[in-house]
Amino acid sequence: MADSKTAPSFSELLATVVTEPGKLEQAFSRFHNYSIGNQLLALIECFRRGIEPGPIATYAGWQALGRQVRKGEKAIELCMPITCKRTVKDETTGDESPATFTRFAFKPRWFVLAQTDGVDYVAPAPPTWDKARALAALDITEEAFASMNGNSQGYAVGRRVAISPVAERPFPTLVHELAHVILGHTTNGARLEDGAVISYAAAEVEAESVALLVSGSLGQDGLEYCRGYVQHYLRGAAIDERTAQRIFKAADTILRAGRVDQVEELPVAA
Ligand SMILES: [Zn+2]
Repeated sequence: MADSKTAPSFSELLATVVTEPGKLEQAFSRFHNYSIGNQLLALIECFRRGIEPGPIATYAGWQALGRQVRKGEKAIELCMPITCKRTVKDETTGDESPATFTRFAFKPRWFVLAQTDGVDYVAPAPPTWDKARALAALDITEEAFASMNGNSQGYAVGRRVAISPVAERPFPTLVHELAHVILGHTTNGARLEDGAVISYAAAEVEAESVALLVSGSLGQDGLEYCRGYVQHYLRGAAIDERTAQRIFKAADTILRAGRVDQVEELPVAA
């Protein structure tokens, strides 16, 4: 999270989600069309500044909804991708060619409902998430559950997942197994992209944190179980910043893959 002096890190955001019931639910009931990291940033900023948490939009966004940002109101900062152009020189030929790349920066461009006046605000419908659409977009197949382990709720192998027909929490379990695939836990014997091997416990923390974020974002019940599961495998340890970024990115990937109503892309830095 370069460029930021005041915004909390993703590891801090995740620690809040894992240990403080209610925060996630509050953030997600209001900011559907933002990345998960930004939804939490917006909520924390509201608490910090004593603003009633509510939907967020840009100045122009509120105008389009028939509302006006009140004079003197200070915008809240969210993390946004910025496309930069630069000239790249080929070392051998000396040829110069234009290249674009994306970096992430915090920009104060958003206002909360409570900072605006105007016509009554009508909340949008909660986001809908379609499993078939998500599986296709993520290139993951769901297969019939074939585990003989009576305690198993689901599993992931390669790019295949299976959920027990008697799973106690089918939705978080599905997200948990999708997360194992997305995070690279099912390739090369649970190795990450950079070759580091992570422990079973670390993989469980990552997958269930993603299940917590996605389930919370879609208004699902049973988040307490997710929190308990993550805390069990953390055993009092903290989630480091790099891992937290991977978790937020995977959660956003799964959410976007199944969202029927794509609205505004504001990915978190990762
Ligand atoms: Zn697992």
